[in-house]
Amino acid sequence: MESTERESHCHHCGTKSNRLHQNHRDVVKDLSWGEQPVFLEINRRQFKCKKCGKPFSEKLDFVNNRIT
Ligand SMILES: [Zn+2]
Repeated sequence: MESTERESHCHHCGTKSNRLHQNHRDVVKDLSWGEQPVFLEINRRQFKCKKCGKPFSEKLDFVNNRIT
């Protein structure tokens, strides 16, 4: 499961960055399918901000909407 977005915004300063820093595998527990938890393995890309130099992960809206 991958996002097609090629750029993301820095969480620290809001600068748009398209510098891919690294790929990062994440396993997300998804409880939206019923009582049995579902584990999703996602490929979360990390970017590196050109302004503040901090690495940050792209925002995954479908994860944030489901896990509160
Ligand atoms: Zn930044």
